[in-house]
Amino acid sequence: MTATRSIPFFDYPALFAELENEIMTTVRDVFARGAYIMQSDVVNFEKELAAYVGVKHAIGVADGTMGLLLPLLALGLKPGDEVLVPSHTFVASAAAIHHAGGTPVLVDCGADHLIDAASVRKFITPRTRGIMPVQLNGRTANMDEIGAIAREHGLFIVEDSCQALGSKFKGRFAGTFGAAGSISFYPSKTLGCFGDGGAIITNDDALAETLRILRDHGRGPDGDIWMWGFNSRLDNVQAAILRVKLKRYDGYIARRRAIASLYQQRLGHQRDLLLPPAPDSQPDHYDIFQNYEIEAGRRDALRAHLDASGVKTIVQWGGKVLHQFPKLGLGAPLPHAERMTQRFMLLPMNTALSDDDIHYICDSIENFYASGRKVAASA
Ligand SMILES: *Cc1c(COP(=O)(O)O)cnc(C)c1O
Repeated sequence: MTATRSIPFFDYPALFAELENEIMTTVRDVFARGAYIMQSDVVNFEKELAAYVGVKHAIGVADGTMGLLLPLLALGLKPGDEVLVPSHTFVASAAAIHHAGGTPVLVDCGADHLIDAASVRKFITPRTRGIMPVQLNGRTANMDEIGAIAREHGLFIVEDSCQALGSKFKGRFAGTFGAAGSISFYPSKTLGCFGDGGAIITNDDALAETLRILRDHGRGPDGDIWMWGFNSRLDNVQAAILRVKLKRYDGYIARRRAIASLYQQRLGHQRDLLLPPAPDSQPDHYDIFQNYEIEAGRRDALRAHLDASGVKTIVQWGGKVLHQFPKLGLGAPLPHAERMTQRFMLLPMNTALSDDDIHYICDSIENFYASGRKVAASA
């Protein structure tokens, strides 16, 4: 198949163009007011975000990684404390545990690529203090199981919900199941800003107060220094832009779910592929499709074919899960995650894609498997 279209994995300029006027008006307004650090836009965005996910507090921070690190510190993580985290995640999840002074202990993932409860049980030791489920690809894990384990063993939960704003399990939002959850506004995230940004969501008043102090140099509401803190604030201009996008967020999610349905419709019958569950196919889960992560038996050949067709795909984390980075020294065999790294890949998933783009991608995948059958038949 010759390339008649060019479909980048992610199209930043297109996403800017779509909102250019409103964003430039917002930026001009913020700059004209000289409102850079911790101004009304941050305060208002925090209120709107908290209302969106139905929690008492949202605290803007510099990025999603600090959104994980600060709650771990606030919960008093100590050297030697172990926190269970899936190996199939961005290095930032484990780095937050490490920099908070704890030890990340990697667990396996299940068929839906999320934290596997049976594996969590297997890795609990007397030193385990907490669990960090990672709500990957815009899907929330079965938090009944994880919550039960946490209660049974007296463990805290800090959710890496960086990829899952708006995703739900049994009607409850990702990031709201434990002590705190982190959201990332990295530009390619479902709610992306124009640089780095993040937020912590929590229902715990005391934790929220500590987090507000930690993110702003340890300064308390009285201006006195209450503790060692950080400079980890959400830029006011980014908060102003995020307010513009949050108003439209439900529309973005609806579009992502429509794209996922189209992929399912077109590719659901391909026996070499494992697709994520279709939207609304599982009543307990509301997925927002930060990513469309599939498995393919002939992954590398499929990716090469798509690339030649002008369709760019990605393999998360460069094709390795965290226990496969020897320099991190986090090795324990995790059979499902290891098998998955041979098969997983991301198809394009973002709001700049048209239905025609999705059909083009699916035509190309169909051609790949059709020509594979011809080769097999003539051999
Ligand atoms: C994006 C992401 C983070 C970190 O977010 P930053 O805002 O880039 O610091 C952490 N965990 C996961 C799973 C992510 O996808």
